[in-house]
Amino acid sequence: MEDLTKKVAELGKRRGFFFQSSEAYGGISGFQTFGPEGAELKRNIEDSWRNTFSRGLGHREIEAPTIMHEPVFEASGHLDGFDDMIIECPECGNSNRADHLVEDNTPISEAEGYSAEQIEGLITEHELVCPSCGSSLNGVDVEDFNLMFETSIGPGNSTPGYLRPETVQGIFVEFPRLKQYARNQLPFGITQIGKAYRNEISPRKGLVRVREFTQAELDLFIDPKEDEPSLEEVEDIKLKLYPVENQNSDGINYIEASVREAAEEGLVNKWISYYLGIAKQWYIEIGVDMDRFRFRQHQPDERAHYASDCWDAEALIDGDWIEIAGFSYRGCYDLTKHGKHSGEEREFSVFKEYDDPETVEETKINIDMSILGPEFGDKASEIAEKLRRKVELGPDIVNEGPIFVHMDEEEYAIDSKTIEVTTEKVTKTGEEIVPHVVEPSFGVDRTVYTVLAHSFTQDSIDGEERKILSLSSEVAPTEVAVFPLMNKEGLGEKAREIANNLRNHGFSVKYDDTGNIGKRYRRQDEVGTPICVTVDYETFEDDPATVTLRDRDSTEQERVHITDLEEVIRSRL
Ligand code: AMP
Repeated sequence: MEDLTKKVAELGKRRGFFFQSSEAYGGISGFQTFGPEGAELKRNIEDSWRNTFSRGLGHREIEAPTIMHEPVFEASGHLDGFDDMIIECPECGNSNRADHLVEDNTPISEAEGYSAEQIEGLITEHELVCPSCGSSLNGVDVEDFNLMFETSIGPGNSTPGYLRPETVQGIFVEFPRLKQYARNQLPFGITQIGKAYRNEISPRKGLVRVREFTQAELDLFIDPKEDEPSLEEVEDIKLKLYPVENQNSDGINYIEASVREAAEEGLVNKWISYYLGIAKQWYIEIGVDMDRFRFRQHQPDERAHYASDCWDAEALIDGDWIEIAGFSYRGCYDLTKHGKHSGEEREFSVFKEYDDPETVEETKINIDMSILGPEFGDKASEIAEKLRRKVELGPDIVNEGPIFVHMDEEEYAIDSKTIEVTTEKVTKTGEEIVPHVVEPSFGVDRTVYTVLAHSFTQDSIDGEERKILSLSSEVAPTEVAVFPLMNKEGLGEKAREIANNLRNHGFSVKYDDTGNIGKRYRRQDEVGTPICVTVDYETFEDDPATVTLRDRDSTEQERVHITDLEEVIRSRL
């Protein structure tokens, strides 16, 4: 369906799923509001994610601030490297994401990992023009543009802060407290669902590329030497994989492999493979169409600076593959960086106790500062540090006459009597290790959008066109709609009583008595309500009393005793 995007956008506006925010003021690109139906759908998807990835795996969720101060992003690398490539039209001043311009107008489908020079070359080679005014972009510079929104914290502007561009930094910076909470026991997982902000150069397609969006992330901290994923939980799940080699060959061909095969044959990092299995099950549950779904491996030049292996979950909508989640093996990159930058390295590691204490020989190096101090003055401690490192590398050096240290383009000869090297037997009960991080990171807005697009269908009933959202009951904003055929002769009261009763049993229920019954059914079909219940005149004629139960997808109707209603609905959902 070529114009699915348009149809979903139209339904989104008309039925209160999502729409451009602040439209009364002309709107501003990259910000969308979830309306009453959309917000409920999004919440249901988030709850379902929580049940699967947080509670379901025995993890805990945190809620960190969305604004963080500068040192956090210096450490994480976002300040220097969280850039996209921008090209500004010299004629009309319109800015565009340079790699997307190439992807949209050349046979190259992934240009994100290209350098600015390569992109400039492609723009010239393909004679690309400004999408806004049509002027040539030949020879125009492609530059880096940092995607973080900057703000200042407190009065004045002395403390710069940034709106977090990914939720995960809120987990990493709290690692010292989180490891305490986990009593230093690896592995442990922390999740977070929250807002992230990116000042996208060219936001597009409704919910797909926005400037404020929600991420659902899980960070699993592991001991890379000892911990293993529980592959047996998902080992038989088949994955549709699109590895780097297949992307680089002609045509699109996938590899079908089970989670275990993918992990054991080295196709996918074993931890990522485990999460791909869990994620695939979850996507099926919330209604993502597996015929329009795949896992694609990142090309080496596309991979984030921290990741050693990375796969995306991608959904096909209107011929475009959209990244809806990323799964990366981040190694010890983030904790090491935060340890170094904060000066609290011990806080960002975990003391791992050995099963049995080990006795080892430890080399002790004593440097006599009472000699170095007077001789080298304010350079003494730096020289001592260099000396220590040199001796650590080869302790025998102390037996070979003076030791030479190079510093600030000078060479210093240090008398080896200044240094004493001894060995001692020490008993070690454990060691400090920097845990590795495995991270599945989901874009909630794109997931909502995919669920809407993949569940959208049209059919024709009695010559009238019908739009349906075949939402799974796991995420549908309303599970049951209850109508009186007409709001008179006690039908309304009875329908309200049934609606309240179903609400008390935990269903999400909508009561509607306006307009003709056909229109009410159409309205519920369009917002994805799986079941409608109608109270009519037969309700009171039958003994025991009955109602009509209508199925959204087949439109079939059956009569059900009111006393059985709760059970029948539960089994249908
Ligand atoms: P990333 O950190 O870039 O791997 O992003 C993680 C997930 O967040 C992606 O898989 C997307 O689903 C989502 N995401 C990233 N950027 C945006 C955006 N501008 N708008 C909506 N979702 C986004």
